[in-house]
Order: sequence, then C-alpha cells, then structure tokens
Amino acid sequence: VIILAIESSCDETAAAVVKNGREVLSNVISSQIDLHTLYGGVVPEIASRKHVERINQVIEQALKQAGLTIKEITAVGVTYGPGLVGALLVGVSAAKAIAYGADKPLVGVHHIEGHIAANLIEHPTLEPPFFSLVVSGGHTHLVQVKDYGVYEILGRTRDDAAGEAFDKVARAIGLGYPGGPKIDRVSREGNPDAIVFPRAKVEDAPLDFSFSGVKSAVLNYINGCQMKGEAFCQADVAASFQKAVTDVLIGNAMEAISRYQVKRFALAGGVASNRALREGLKDACEKCQVEFYCPSPIYCTDNAAMIGTAAYYEYQKGIRHGWDLNAVPNLKLGDSR
Ligand code: ATP
Ligand code: MG
Ligand code: FE
Repeated sequence: VIILAIESSCDETAAAVVKNGREVLSNVISSQIDLHTLYGGVVPEIASRKHVERINQVIEQALKQAGLTIKEITAVGVTYGPGLVGALLVGVSAAKAIAYGADKPLVGVHHIEGHIAANLIEHPTLEPPFFSLVVSGGHTHLVQVKDYGVYEILGRTRDDAAGEAFDKVARAIGLGYPGGPKIDRVSREGNPDAIVFPRAKVEDAPLDFSFSGVKSAVLNYINGCQMKGEAFCQADVAASFQKAVTDVLIGNAMEAISRYQVKRFALAGGVASNRALREGLKDACEKCQVEFYCPSPIYCTDNAAMIGTAAYYEYQKGIRHGWDLNAVPNLKLGDSR
C-alpha cells in the first residue's frame, strides 16, 4: 500500500509518499517561516495564498523523489483538520482533485493523529497501546493511544498550548518568530535556575495543563526589569522559562504513567523537537522503566510523512472519504470518520 500524503494545515506546504505505513519514500516540506517572520506570526491569508502557489510543485516533487507516478499510488491521504480553514482547503482540494482524476481512494486525516503517528515511522516495533504527549503550536494533550486511530484524551491545556507559550515568550524577550527553536538554542547559554517562574497545577485535574501563568510571569519579569532601567539576561530568561514549561510537561507525563501503568510513552508535535524536553522526558521514563519514543526533529514539526503513516492505518481499517470531504478547522481527535 502506497500513500501519497498532503499536509497544509498551517504554514508548511508538504507532500510525502509512504509505503506500508512506515517506509518514507519521499518527504517534501516547503516552509513559509521566512514570510511570516516579517509579521511575528502566521498570517492566515498569506499562508493560504502561498499554499496555492506551492502545492502542485511540492506534490510533483514528492512523487518524483519517490520514483513513482500517480498511477502507482494506492490512495491519497490529506489533513482536513484541525488548522487554518483557508490553509486546509488548499490541501483538501488538491487531494480531492488528484484522487478523483487518478481514480484513487481518498483518506482524510486528523493533523494530531499524524503527529502521534510520526513515532511509528522510525520505530518499526512500536504499536498501540501506548501513551503520548502531544505538544505543538495549537495543542497540548496527554493521549492514550488504545489502538490505531483510537484515542482517549486524558489531559489537555486549559489555555495556551506549549508551543504557543514558547512563541509568545520568544517574541516578548526579543527573539522573534518562530520562538520555539530560538528559545531552545538560546537556553543552552543560560541558567535554568536563574529565575523561578511558576509551575501551574490545575486543581482537581492533575493531567491538565495551564501555560498562561508562566507566560504572564515572564512578561511581568521583563516589565519589572525595564521599569528599574535594568537589562535582563535573555539566555537566563529563556532557560528559566523553558525549565518551568518542561518541568510541568514531564511532571504531568509522569503522573499519567503512574496512574495508567504506562509501559510505552511517545512524545509528539513540534515542541517534541525541544532538546531539553526530549532529554528530560527520556531520563524520567528510563528511571521508571518506561520505553521512551520520540521522532527525529524533521518528523516532529509539520510534515506529510506523518500524515501518510496515519492515513495508511485509516486506509487499512477501510476508512474512505467522499468527494464532499471538507476542511474542518476545529476537528476533534477521534472524530475523523
Ligand atoms: P498544531 O500541530 O497544534 O496544529 P502547528 O502545526 O502549528 O500546531 P507544529 O508545527 O506541530 O504546530 O509545531 C510548531 C510549534 O512547535 C511552534 O509553536 C514552535 O515554536 C514549536 N517548536 C518547534 N521547535 C521547537 C523547539 N526546538 N523547542 C520548543 N518549541 C519548538
Ligand atoms: Mg509550522
Ligand atoms: Fe502540527
């Protein structure tokens, strides 16, 4: 089974060819980061327009790198939510046109299901059930993966997503967009214990997250410094903020591991490429004899290979979407059929 997968939910135009769910034959990603850096964040209208300009080329390149023609593809997989509606529509329309034209089945995929599936690509023996922490630009979920395509969300953020907090704090301390990778890098020069930022707990919901408090604390700290006419140390603020966020993520992950007697734990989403988080969670899992999984950074941030992997398992279950498939900007995990 060979899937041509398309992803355009945010600011990456991506296409990939994936064989039997786990073998990536090509993985083409055209990022718009440079364009959106000008505005300090993703501008939806610009994102949609750039997707339109690039999608055909990206798809052609994915097929070419895989050495295949559309005839040799089994099915077309595409992200249809959640994400920016205008951005999603570009991928969904392209996928429908290609699938219809080549007479191939169409499989719609949930973007977060793709992020979780990214773990399967490089870990051929990993199979459900396992637990996953999804940390991305728009989501922070603790998920029980009961079977392929069967999820239960056991913890979620009450306000900002982890990646969103990284991006907002990065902007506030003058690092610019995209914040996550920049905080990751600058933190290596800073002292994570220099400033104590709050580690929020959600009352009566020990697996839930809240990151608006730590974000405000960083803003207050910076304002305080500016009012006193003092300069703040960017690296120390970045490292201390990153430590506060990773402490909470790892703390809740450990709570889930003990509550649900988890044996295998998989990190997923763009923030999963954060070095401190990967290393911290790996150590914590090893200490309690839990197998730890994490995709390579290229499969953590948005890509179409992960969508191809998720689409393969949906395809195997017999899931097919009609030509009326539409973008669903607020699609819920587990609702993708
Ligand atoms: P979602 O997947 O929730 O729909 P998205 O697709 O926009 O959102 P991803 O591409 O999965 O998000 O991840 C992007 C996020 O990951 C951004 O918030 C970015 O700052 C963050 N990120 C990327 N690399 C790192 C890193 N090394 N450290 C921390 N955060 C990072
Ligand atoms: Mg992105
Ligand atoms: Fe994503």
